Amino acid sequence: MQGTFDRSFVNQVQQANDIVEVAGEHLKLTPKGTELVGLCPFHNDHKPSLYVSPSKQIFKCFACGAGGDVLKFIQMRENLTFPQAIERLAQRAGIKLPQKREKSPSAAQQSVDPNSLAKVNQWAASHFENNLADVQKGKAARDYLAQRHISLDTAAKWRLGLAVDNPRDLIDAAAKKTIPLNLLEQAGLVSARGAADRFVNRLIFPIIDVTERVVAFGGRTLDGNGAKYINSPATALFDKSNCLYGLRHARHEIVSAQTAVVVEGYTDCIMAHSKGCCNVVATLGTSFTPGHARILKRYANKAVLVFDSDAAGIEAANRALQICIAQQIDIKLATVPQGKDPCDFLLSAGKDSFTRLVNDAADVFEFKWLRLKNAFDRDNTLAGRKSAVDQFLQTVAAALRAGNLPAIDRGLIVNRLSRILGLDIKDINAELAGRLTSAAKTAAYRAENEYVVAGDLGNGLSATAQREILEIVLNEPNLFDIVKKHVTVTDFDVPILAAIAAVLFDSLKTQQRPSLAELLAKTESVDIAARLVQLAQAGEEKANFRARLAGALNAMRHVRTRKTSSIKPTCDQAKFLRNVAETVGKGNRRNIGLV
Ligand SMILES: [Zn+2]
Repeated sequence: MQGTFDRSFVNQVQQANDIVEVAGEHLKLTPKGTELVGLCPFHNDHKPSLYVSPSKQIFKCFACGAGGDVLKFIQMRENLTFPQAIERLAQRAGIKLPQKREKSPSAAQQSVDPNSLAKVNQWAASHFENNLADVQKGKAARDYLAQRHISLDTAAKWRLGLAVDNPRDLIDAAAKKTIPLNLLEQAGLVSARGAADRFVNRLIFPIIDVTERVVAFGGRTLDGNGAKYINSPATALFDKSNCLYGLRHARHEIVSAQTAVVVEGYTDCIMAHSKGCCNVVATLGTSFTPGHARILKRYANKAVLVFDSDAAGIEAANRALQICIAQQIDIKLATVPQGKDPCDFLLSAGKDSFTRLVNDAADVFEFKWLRLKNAFDRDNTLAGRKSAVDQFLQTVAAALRAGNLPAIDRGLIVNRLSRILGLDIKDINAELAGRLTSAAKTAAYRAENEYVVAGDLGNGLSATAQREILEIVLNEPNLFDIVKKHVTVTDFDVPILAAIAAVLFDSLKTQQRPSLAELLAKTESVDIAARLVQLAQAGEEKANFRARLAGALNAMRHVRTRKTSSIKPTCDQAKFLRNVAETVGKGNRRNIGLV
């Protein structure tokens, strides 16, 4: 995707947006020494952990590990792709976007440009809005809104519209504007082959992202034909499991409340906002996904899922439990009494009752436990309770396995289970351990220790050495002359380290001393960026680069020749590499050019 913009344009945009100013638009920064600090927006921060360096033009959180340049900050903060972040910051700095490169016609047909889709959606949204506002065409739809207690002001705020009862309304309107039919098709606005509009005689809910792009539409039937609600299909711009309705209106309130309330329907969400509950978003008729959790985590550490019945809540509980563990976001479940949907409940019971419902929501673990207990424990027997505990721990263990959780976070969950079940932590640990298969445990251990000792010896040693080499070259680029004689990017077999090596080594071919910001401008992934900043920082705090490099290069060499079987890894990397250097590297300094 980086191909969308050339390197010099990316650099220009990065340089035109001072990270202190951009981050300052999102959080309060206070000077501390040569840097600035603020509450990190990427985790639930209580004391300022996010450092912004004006001289290096990077940010770094010492608590959650987030880090990068101004582009990564916007990518993470606004949930944008790399090219979207570039466009966004280009706009902010008033830099004109370059003309799109010419493509061959066949390539143009194959690849769909998300920007053109956003534009055609924008046009369609206005078209639908005009239909709704039309004195005659829009009357029935406006009556329906009135009946649902949605005011015209509210309709305007959410840009509601109307697809009239004519299957060629949009197609004909587009033809008048010479908008190509295949663009409507790619945007999912017309059926395949352009025979008819997708939305016919429906109330239209445009789905608008936080950057104000119309990414898709939802439509509610006005005449009972077809499904009650339909959405746009997946397009280059829209993936419903990664999209939350109303986030653009709700995100600031979600940050200040530190809680996101998630409902399922468009009208539930709209009604909540119009009643003054503004931290509410809606999934688009799907259940809550890990993608939704990842998005919300950028704004808050807690999500309350609201269901219209206890049965729906029970059905969602296992999934929510898994997401809660894997995404490390607190999830609570609430059910609206008497099988009402949240919209009707808000209308009849009002804001305060809805707020109370949200505040009283049950922690997902507790919810699951209580429902199981009820099911098993009707006659309050010991056997019933035991079966409930058993099934509960089984569910948690399955979620833990799927979530691949580091030991420390598993400890927190065990504490929670101990509180809920009233059992000793030791017992729960023992019970869970039996349920986590040894294979799964090894996998979790490996993931957790990837950069320390990882699994088998060769990999562990090699990974540590790879990391060490990057730390050194990031801080002492002139040592690259030595490094490049002994290792290439292909020697890096830990994917994230290989990606960093590729960027770093490539830059060093043409530049003597690329800055961290320059390296970050070449990195699209926020994860790789965060690791890059981490390595640079870790290296800076160490010293003695030449000696360490000797150890690392020897280690790499010996891994390659598989002569390391007599060395045991230890958790202390530095000592580990010293050992390696001493045991296998004696007398080898000359060999690797460190005279
Ligand atoms: Zn953080």
